[in-house]
Amino acid sequence: MALDRNTSDLEFENTIRPQELGAFSGQDKTVENLRIFIRAALMRGESLDHVLLHGPPGLGKTTLAGIIANEMGAAMKVTSGPVLDKPGDLAGLLTNLGRGDVLFIDEIHRLTPIIEEYLYSAMEDYKIDIVLDKGPSARSIQIELNPFTLIGATTRSGLLTSPLRARFGIQCLLEYYDANILRGIVQRSAGILGIGIDDGAAHEIAMRSRGTPRIANALLRRVRDFAMVQGGGHIDLAITRVALGALNIDARGLDTMDNRILTTIISKFRGGPVGLGTIATAVGEEPGTIEEVYEPFLIKEGFLKRTPRGREATELAYTHLGLSRLPEDPGLFS
Ligand code: ADP
Repeated sequence: MALDRNTSDLEFENTIRPQELGAFSGQDKTVENLRIFIRAALMRGESLDHVLLHGPPGLGKTTLAGIIANEMGAAMKVTSGPVLDKPGDLAGLLTNLGRGDVLFIDEIHRLTPIIEEYLYSAMEDYKIDIVLDKGPSARSIQIELNPFTLIGATTRSGLLTSPLRARFGIQCLLEYYDANILRGIVQRSAGILGIGIDDGAAHEIAMRSRGTPRIANALLRRVRDFAMVQGGGHIDLAITRVALGALNIDARGLDTMDNRILTTIISKFRGGPVGLGTIATAVGEEPGTIEEVYEPFLIKEGFLKRTPRGREATELAYTHLGLSRLPEDPGLFS
């Protein structure tokens, strides 16, 4: 659910995206620190140090980047690692940045090594060397840039090279949200969209959103559909439960793929340990998506363990699925 967003989802996200730090709920430590760094940079009349935001999808990295630019009174240009493959494109973006502006690079772990090299001097000295022409007539010219802030977002900080990581003076790890904060986010979004929702219903959506604002907001929209068609339009607890059931979101907030991963590990691999690639093939999903999107939440909620020999289902996973452990395999030689 976190990954397959279409245009209407993106438009919707932009409508309800908080614009100031005050409207960004949760992540208290990160927000407090950013508030101080922003204020200090403004007091000195300097651009903000480069910021790296990491954490699973949908936790607010893009939102925070926009908020930082807003609070700095700066313009923001947005691009992403996979899109930015020609040095010329990067140079174009950088040379168009005004003093103090923000360049936001999503999925920064997917930059090519060449682009990364260019970024080093841009980040450190606000300069880039551009090579003109090819072969014997090739020459390089140096272009001075306005001081700017690079904000990089990544779901896989482990894939970032250490020289790149070291160039970010501010690094923030975003955590999954607790249900109370998510309930507030659901209520805020409902308010913006003019949807009537009971407290209990907002709490139920919050509990089943995998700790993720993007999912909470997406579920709110789907529950609204059910409330409009099967109820009077107002969202109460009963219609919320019907809708979430119809969407295959279970009581612990696990969706179909979460449950498929756990069931597969238990029924096909005796509960594990089993390698990520094997799980991915068995459930028909990309290993990267399992590692980035599903696994962190399953681990955090205690359904899955990562061991040196692979992934293992926990007791909680067995209880949750109503399955029991198979007796130990006696092995060939016993
Ligand atoms: P990411 O870039 O980490 O994938 P986004 O910043 O795009 O996530 O956030 C996804 C959605 O969740 C956006 O619509 C945003 O409005 C909402 N959101 C994220 N974090 C918060 C928050 N702390 N408070 C309110 N809404 C949030």
